[in-house]
Amino acid sequence: MTPTNAYAAPAAGAALAPFQFNRRNTGPNDVKIEILYCGVCHSDIHQVRDEWGGSIFPMVPGHEIVGRIIETGSDVTNFKVGDLAGIGCFVDSCRTCPSCAAGEEQYCDNGMTGTYNSYERDGRTPTYGGYSTHIVVDEKYTLHISDKLPLEAVAPLLCAGITTYSPLRHWKVGKGSKVAIVGLGGLGHMGVKFAASFGAEVTVISTSAGKEDDARKLGAHHFAVSKDSAQMRKLRGEFDFILDTVSAEHDYNDYLQLLKLNGTLVVVGIPPNPSTVNAFNVIGKRRSLAGSMIGGIRETQEMLIYCAEHGITSDIELINIDQINEAYERMLKNDVRYRFVIDIASLNKA
Ligand code: NAP
Ligand code: ZN
Repeated sequence: MTPTNAYAAPAAGAALAPFQFNRRNTGPNDVKIEILYCGVCHSDIHQVRDEWGGSIFPMVPGHEIVGRIIETGSDVTNFKVGDLAGIGCFVDSCRTCPSCAAGEEQYCDNGMTGTYNSYERDGRTPTYGGYSTHIVVDEKYTLHISDKLPLEAVAPLLCAGITTYSPLRHWKVGKGSKVAIVGLGGLGHMGVKFAASFGAEVTVISTSAGKEDDARKLGAHHFAVSKDSAQMRKLRGEFDFILDTVSAEHDYNDYLQLLKLNGTLVVVGIPPNPSTVNAFNVIGKRRSLAGSMIGGIRETQEMLIYCAEHGITSDIELINIDQINEAYERMLKNDVRYRFVIDIASLNKA
């Protein structure tokens, strides 16, 4: 067992506070990682506040994990002690269903094992995430991390990165595509970087007029404020592809209207409550409304290699663990530029 320092939410909506637990012994196929950095995703907030239902407490959030391997199991072949390693949103899956066989473990027919707020395959051992000093994971669910990029800025690639990379690839966004990214937060700013890097013409649609300069620096060519109905009217029928990263209630109809013939609105943001779609907004121009969830291990590794080759990382604000509750409050005010990352060294001092 490895005694592990962490921060946990003791109950729904409660402030996070210091928490200790033991990680399992390193099994034959496991690697033990000393965590160095962990990104802060809006999904952490949704789950700590039990906004999606079914949250498990105490909860140690965190699924944007990078660190260094300090122990390997006897059958581990892909990693060695001293390697950098990453863990994303899941740590296991059934390994036998068609989705797992296709390398799309996030869509496991029997349910992926979330990195936190989930149970191991035994159905009763709770999983704890990356706001912690160590994690033990099967090597099959562990990613290789390049030493070419600043590690703290790589952490958010494990969720915000792959969640935007995967749909942009799936819907073949590239040169000639007119793309809008809705919401300039953690996911949104990675979406802008990838879409621009793939050669698309990128518009950011934001509620925050003050983010325009940043949007352009991140690679966007155009910027619109969604609260300005005149600006939104001008964008009707403009886009081939829209990536909606918004975390709070909003009207999908406003964005469907911005699609061209055969355009697709892909939802990745997960507001707590359902919303209504007007049929006319999809039938009118044979538009599609679709969704996408993170990415499989193979594609996540591909994305990490792409980022290392193209120098793509997240724009981050590094915090100590005792700033986490304040960071949540700032994210809820859309005041994150553009991902908080926890320096896990601060947990050993907490
Ligand atoms: P975030 O950093 O807090 O960014 C969300 C952004 O949404 C905000 O910065 C803001 O951007 C915009 N926004 C907030 N409230 C809004 C409102 N009422 N109307 C319109 N826009 C609003 O969050 P994140 O970490 O990027 O996560 C975004 C969402 O994706 C969350 O719901 C999260 O749970 C979900 N998520 C999904 C997946 C997946 O696999 N599908 C993976 C990770 C996260 P502006 O200031 O530019 O308006
Ligand atoms: Zn996430």
